[in-house]
Amino acid sequence: MEGQLRTTYELPDIRHGLDLTEDQGMIRDMVREFAQSEVAPLAAKIDEEHTFPVETWTRIVELGLPGIPFSEEYGGSDGGTLAYILAVEELSKVCASTGLTLAAHVSLGTYPIYAWGAEALKREYIPKLISGEYMGAYGLTEPGAGSDSGSTRTTAVLEGDEYVLNGRKCFITNANHAGVFICTAVTDKTIGSKGISAFAVPRTAPGFSLEKGEIKLGMRGSDWASLVFEDARIPRDHLLGPEGEGFATFMKTLDGGRISIGALALGIAEGAYECALQYAQEREAFGKFLSDQQAVQFKLADMAMQIEAARHLVYHAARLKDAGMTYTKEGAMAKLFASEVAMHVTYDAIQVYGGYGFSREYPVERMWRDAKLCTIGEGTSEIQRMIIARQILHSA
Ligand SMILES: Cc1cc2nc3c(=O)[nH]c(=O)nc-3n(C[C@H](O)[C@H](O)[C@H](O)COP(=O)(O)OP(=O)(O)OC[C@H]3O[C@@H](n4cnc5c(N)ncnc54)[C@H](O)[C@@H]3O)c2cc1C
Repeated sequence: MEGQLRTTYELPDIRHGLDLTEDQGMIRDMVREFAQSEVAPLAAKIDEEHTFPVETWTRIVELGLPGIPFSEEYGGSDGGTLAYILAVEELSKVCASTGLTLAAHVSLGTYPIYAWGAEALKREYIPKLISGEYMGAYGLTEPGAGSDSGSTRTTAVLEGDEYVLNGRKCFITNANHAGVFICTAVTDKTIGSKGISAFAVPRTAPGFSLEKGEIKLGMRGSDWASLVFEDARIPRDHLLGPEGEGFATFMKTLDGGRISIGALALGIAEGAYECALQYAQEREAFGKFLSDQQAVQFKLADMAMQIEAARHLVYHAARLKDAGMTYTKEGAMAKLFASEVAMHVTYDAIQVYGGYGFSREYPVERMWRDAKLCTIGEGTSEIQRMIIARQILHSA
C-alpha cells in the first residue's frame, strides 16, 4: 500500500525544507567551505579589534558573491535571490559582520541602481559594484529620521546639470569603503514623502564627506560611518527613477533587503545552535553530558524548531522575489521572525554554555550581540509588525 503512494521521480532535497536546485546547492556548499576555512578564523579577531576585514572582502569578490542576483549583462551570474540569500546565511553562521557587509552591498548598495538607474548609470556602476572596484552603501537614516524616514531632512536642489545636496545621514554600513552611496533627499518640501528623491552619490562628489561612526555593541567587523553633505554636487543623471519617487524606491529596496537580514539572522541562529549542540555533547555535569539533561534537550529542540520555521519563511520570501511576485509581507515576516529566533537561540546558547558562554572564550556571546542588529536595521521589529498589519488589512 505504502509503495503505491511513492513517487517514481527523483525528489529534490526536501527533507530539510531546502528544495534547492543543483546550482543553489553548489553555491551554498562553496560559500560554506569558504566561510568555515577563511571567514570563521577571523571572526573573533575583527569583533575584538573593530576592524573591517579587507582581505575577506577581496575573496568574496573573487568568488563572485556580489554578482549572484544580477544579470550576466552587467557582470553578474544570474543566480537569483535565493542563491544570494544562501551565501549571506552561510557567511553569517560563522561571522555575522561579514554577512552584513555582503547584504548591505548587494541589497542596498547595488540593487537600487540595477532596478531604477538609467541605462548609462547602470553600465557605469553595476559592473564595478560586482567586480569589487566599488563597494556600495545606502543612506536613508538621519539623526532625526530613522523609522520615520518620510521625515528626511537632507535636501537636493537642481542647479543646471547638478543636484546640490545638504544634510547628513547616520549609521551607514560599508560607508568608509564605499565608492557609491544610494541616498534620499527632499526635492520638494511641500508634499511630504512624495517630495523625496533617490540619488546615487559618488564618493568623490565635491562637498561630500564622511564622519566616524560610534563604537558598536555588535557587528563590529562591519564598517559604518555618517555621511555629510555640504553643498555636495552630483550629476543630474545620478537621480534614480523620477523625482519624487525616491521614498517608494527606498521602501521597495528595503522589501528585498529584509530578506537578506532574515538570512543574516537565520545564519546567526544556526551558528549559535551548532555551537550549543556540540558543547552540550561534550560538557559533563552531575555525571552525564549536558545533552542528557532533559532541560538542555528541550532548549536544543526549541532552537532546532525555530530555526526550521525561520528557514522556511526566509527561503519562501526569496522564492517569491525570484518568481516576480509581491513579497512585502513575506519579506517583513521573514525578517521579523528570523530576527526574534536569532535573539532567542543566541540567548539560550549562552545559557547552555553557562559561565563559558558569558566569556569571550566562546563565540556565542558575540553571536548574541550581533543578532540584536537584526531587530533594528532595515526597519525595527515594531516597524515590521506595522508593515505586516498594513498588508493584512490592506488586502482584506
Ligand atoms: C548596525 C547598524 C547598521 C545600520 N546600517 C544602516 C544603513 O546602512 N543605512 C541606513 O540608512 N540605516 C542604517 N541603520 C539605521 C537603522 O535602519 C535605524 O537605526 C532603524 O531604522 C531605526 O531608526 P532609529 O535608530 O532612528 O530609531 P527610531 O526610529 O528613533 O526608533 C526608536 C524606537 O521607537 C520605535 N518606534 C518608532 N516609531 C514607532 C512607531 N510608529 N510605532 C511603534 N514603535 C515605533 C522603534 O521601533 C524603536 O524601538 C543601521 C543601524 C544599525 C544599528
